[in-house]
Amino acid sequence: MGKKQRDCVTCGAPVGYLDRQYCCRCWRRLNEQAAKAVLSASA
Ligand SMILES: [Zn+2]
Repeated sequence: MGKKQRDCVTCGAPVGYLDRQYCCRCWRRLNEQAAKAVLSASA
C-alpha cells in the first residue's frame, strides 16, 4: 500500500504537498487573488 497522491481540487493535477489541496499553479493563483482581494478591500 503506497501513499496516495493527492490531486488538485481545481485542475486535478498531482499535488506534491500532503497538506495542500491545490497544485503549485493553483495555489499561487489563489494567493494572488487573495492578495488582490485584501488590497481592494483595504483601499
Ligand atoms: Zn491545480
